[in-house]
Amino acid sequence: MFQKLFVFSLSVMTLLMGTGAVTEGKDPDPPSKNEVDNVILFIADGYSAGYNVNYRHYKEGGDPVWDSFLTGMMTTHSANNRITDSAAAGTAMATGMKTKNGFVGLNENGEKVQTILEAAHEAGKATGLVATSTITHATPAAFASHVDSRNNQTEIARQYMDNGTVDVLLGGGKDYFLPESEGGHQDTRHLLKEAKTKGYEIIENREELLSSNSKHILGLFANDSMAPDLHREETEQPSLADMTSSAIETLSQNEDGFFLMVEGSQIDWAGHANDAAWAMSDTAAFEEAVIEALAFAEEDEQTLVIVTSDHDTGGMTLGGYHSHGTDVEILREVTATGEHMANQVNDDRSNVKKVIEAHTSLTLSDEEIVAIEESDNVTLAINHTISHYAGVGWTTTNHTGVEVPVYAYGKGTEHFQGLIDNTDLAKNIATVLNIPF
Ligand SMILES: [Mg+2]
Ligand SMILES: [Zn+2]
Repeated sequence: MFQKLFVFSLSVMTLLMGTGAVTEGKDPDPPSKNEVDNVILFIADGYSAGYNVNYRHYKEGGDPVWDSFLTGMMTTHSANNRITDSAAAGTAMATGMKTKNGFVGLNENGEKVQTILEAAHEAGKATGLVATSTITHATPAAFASHVDSRNNQTEIARQYMDNGTVDVLLGGGKDYFLPESEGGHQDTRHLLKEAKTKGYEIIENREELLSSNSKHILGLFANDSMAPDLHREETEQPSLADMTSSAIETLSQNEDGFFLMVEGSQIDWAGHANDAAWAMSDTAAFEEAVIEALAFAEEDEQTLVIVTSDHDTGGMTLGGYHSHGTDVEILREVTATGEHMANQVNDDRSNVKKVIEAHTSLTLSDEEIVAIEESDNVTLAINHTISHYAGVGWTTTNHTGVEVPVYAYGKGTEHFQGLIDNTDLAKNIATVLNIPF
């Protein structure tokens, strides 16, 4: 239903853009003004064209929703490496500056640089960060903190509170906000108490999120990272779509507009694990979140929605030397991550067949079972076996340096066309919002 509406409005939009060009020609000196009030930036960590083609086959009932508004490709290299990490890539996208792998919100000389979220905050906009990792993880951190090591998540949490630039923070990582005396990672500071004093509502589960009416929300739904979407129903955690719609509802109350970054954090973790089913199911959860934003943008007409990634993880392909054919659809029947299955394998590894059959539609051969039994990395062995059946190839358990797709919907999409650099993202967002940056 929504997709039909969406395709229709896209063609109307194309018409309107054409008319706009004519009007602009008649007015030699148009007043400088913003093209949109709001930007919602979606980052699927680790996602690349390889994931997209697999997801197209995995998804039932239509193409990925973003396929209809692909605008270009984006480079991903960092200042010191052709293969970026998420800290450098996040910093490039957030600040418009290349930096070294591991740096967050600093240029390559280690100097603090302003982020697009901070610029939006200074311009009077409401701001938000949403992630399924800890909210202090590299990607969200790059938008609102400045540290020389992405691992310093306690400092990132302190900066969120001290800087006060983010109105809505939703994700995992409660332990980074709690003092050691309460089982957390902070020496002495109790950041949840401090946040409350500063006017944030502290929430911890889906029900509290859906009923919150606050303008400032700190929602921490897990002590560490949130559950993979495959296992979310075993928890009281909200989905990425729940968090996204709540963030939009909250931030859109601000009359001067908002900037929101939403991350599908665990697509990258699935890529590192070469776990095709986890990658696809977390992409589906990410797509649900994007659909929430598109519905808002459709109605609001003052919102630019960008969907992109920071880099590829795993070098995922459709086909490849690990596979004889492609049967991506079998991944729909997988009900657990490889890690979850590996944790259920007993010490003498006598139940491999039973565990795999309980969580997939596969019947493994004796050789495949022996290969898993004898492997020194059971998780990876399970994931490679499932990927083999699906026809999903992997080239590494690290990141690769390939370009990633960029999708943009709404007004201002012309700034994201063709091959852009990841540093262009922040600069062009500032342009469409017409804010000093
Ligand atoms: Mg990330
Ligand atoms: Zn990664």
